[in-house]
Amino acid sequence: MHLFIRKSHGLVVIVLVILCSCGNHDIDSAIMREHAEKLKKTNSFRYPLDNYFPETPVIETDPPKGELHHAAEDSFAPAGTPVYAIGDGIISYSGSAKGYGWLIIIDHPVENVYSLYGHLSTSRWKKTSGNVKKGELIAYLAEGEEGGTMFSHIHFGLRMGQRSDYPGWGDSRWMAGYTNSRPELRGWFSPSQIIGQTDSMRNWHRYIRKREDIVSERNIHASDFKITSGKYNEREDLDQMIRKEFGDQYRLADWKDIMSFSTNIEEWADSIGLNSGEENSLLISNDGYRIWLSRQYYISRFNHKKPRDFLAHRAIKNNFVCLGSWFGLNNHVLAVKK
Ligand SMILES: [Zn+2]
Repeated sequence: MHLFIRKSHGLVVIVLVILCSCGNHDIDSAIMREHAEKLKKTNSFRYPLDNYFPETPVIETDPPKGELHHAAEDSFAPAGTPVYAIGDGIISYSGSAKGYGWLIIIDHPVENVYSLYGHLSTSRWKKTSGNVKKGELIAYLAEGEEGGTMFSHIHFGLRMGQRSDYPGWGDSRWMAGYTNSRPELRGWFSPSQIIGQTDSMRNWHRYIRKREDIVSERNIHASDFKITSGKYNEREDLDQMIRKEFGDQYRLADWKDIMSFSTNIEEWADSIGLNSGEENSLLISNDGYRIWLSRQYYISRFNHKKPRDFLAHRAIKNNFVCLGSWFGLNNHVLAVKK
C-alpha cells in the first residue's frame, strides 16, 4: 500500500508522518530473537498444511532495490488442500482481503504471536470465528484466481504480538503480506525456523540455487546422454542419484545441452530413447535452475502434438520436444557427461 502525498499540502504531510511513525516503530531485534528462542522450546505449533514445504522462504537477503520484502513463507499445494490451525488460539479475523482471497488470522495469546493464512478458498467451507485447537481444520486452499494468485499456495505468516497490537494501514499493518522494511523489524518471524525444518526443507535451499556447472559452449554427442533407471521427484537429490547410477563424470542434463541438438532433435530423441507422451518425461534443469516456483523442470516429447493444457516454458521445432515444470513428479532423470 502506498500513501500518495502531495507536496503542496505541508500540514497533511506532517499529520501523515506522525500517524505512520507511531504504527511503524521498529521492533528490537534482540527481543525478536529472545522470543523466537522461547517459541522454539515450547513446541506449541505444527505447520498449516500436512505436506508443508516453504519453497519461497521469508526473505533471507534484501530484495532488489525498490522491491518489497516477503513477510511470510509460501508453500505450494493443489487447490482444496486442507488448512489447519497451527496451535490453540482464537480467530481474530476471517474474511476476504485484498490479494488474499479469504484470509484467516489466529491469535495465540499464550505464546503471544498470531498466525496468518492467506489465499484460502472464498467459496468452500471455512471457520469464521471462535476458539480453535492445534490441528483443527480451518479452511481449504483456493483455486489460484479465487485466492488472488496465479498458483494455489498458502501464504503463512507468524508474527509477534496479537492482531489488535497492529494498525490497519502502513508498513506494520496486521494483514501485510509484504513489507518495505525487513520483516523482522515489523515483528514477522520465519515460521519454519520456529516450527522446525526437516532435512528435505534444508536441502531444498540447495536445489533452488542456480547450478554453476553448466557449460553451454562445448562439443557434446547424443551418446553422452543417459537416462536413470530410477524414478525421482523434485524434492530428491538428483545429483546424488546420477552419481550413484553413472559415477562422477555425469551431471543433470540442462535445456542448453538439448538446444545444441535443435536442428536434428528427432534423431537425438530417438537415439537417447526419449519416447513420446508426458508419462515418459525426463527431469532436467533449465539454464542452471532445477526448479521454477516449486516445480521441477522436465522435457516431454510430443512429436508436434502438444496437449492443450501443457504449459511449455520453451519448445524445439514446433513442439516436437517441450520444456515443462510440475511438482509431485515420479520420473526418470536425464544425465549428461560433464
Ligand atoms: Zn507469499
